[in-house]
Amino acid sequence: MSDKILEIENLTVSFEGFKALNQLNFSMDTGELRVIIGPNGAGKTTFLDVITGKVQPTTGRALFKGKNLRSRSEHNISRLGIGRKFQTPRVYLQLTPRENLDLSCNRHKNVLATLMGRPSGTERRTVAGLLETIGLTTKADIPAALLSHGEKQRLEIGMLVAQSPDLLLVDEPVAGLTDEETENVGSLLITLAESHSIIVIEHDMEFVRQIARQVTVLHQGSVLCEGTMDEVQNNPQVIEVYLGQPEEDDG
Ligand code: ADP
Ligand code: MG
Repeated sequence: MSDKILEIENLTVSFEGFKALNQLNFSMDTGELRVIIGPNGAGKTTFLDVITGKVQPTTGRALFKGKNLRSRSEHNISRLGIGRKFQTPRVYLQLTPRENLDLSCNRHKNVLATLMGRPSGTERRTVAGLLETIGLTTKADIPAALLSHGEKQRLEIGMLVAQSPDLLLVDEPVAGLTDEETENVGSLLITLAESHSIIVIEHDMEFVRQIARQVTVLHQGSVLCEGTMDEVQNNPQVIEVYLGQPEEDDG
């Protein structure tokens, strides 16, 4: 058995000849919290697209817990234990946080069955535990539409965790959040990192500093460097291609 949750070997993704990823090598230990940074167009989203099966590599391979992900469907990869959180929250606004989490814990049932059915004791405890983890116990029973943007982000992270993935992929979780909400999301990810392997893609350097242990810098589809936040920030190449540039938003 491998203690690597993810191994990426010589991965290239070409879009009509343009290499969004170019001979990329990357690996990550089980239980790690890894932050990936890099300028716009570096290939960060494409990297997640390959891991989740949305995009097929042109050459090279991606292994999850030693299993080759090639030719697997997004659904199949999700069942293997990879969960992805997109930038925009995708919660049911008319349902409460508790109901949203119930649904995620019972993905095999349909919406109505979950709402009408009586959750088992174990499921109820799981939902209560999740509500506490994401800090929404006091808002568990109000419509999710009334939550702040940051609370919705935390709810969606909770919904992802409810599906018990081994590897969580989180794409720019604090874009557009206030400082306080950003810190809450950071604390949540640090808590979740005690029991999950997590990859976070992020632009907000303050936030990266809050949560990061190991940072990987992508540039032009390859890994430019890896290390602690201090190492990365002091790397002359990184300063040149990334940190020296004014910060931009990438949607
Ligand atoms: P990042 O998320 O780091 O900003 P992306 O992975 O979104 O970078 O994109 C990497 C490069 O690949 C960009 O230059 C982008 O324009 C290009 N790209 C991404 N997806 C496609 C696609 N489906 N077709 C053509 N080019 C693409
Ligand atoms: Mg992107």
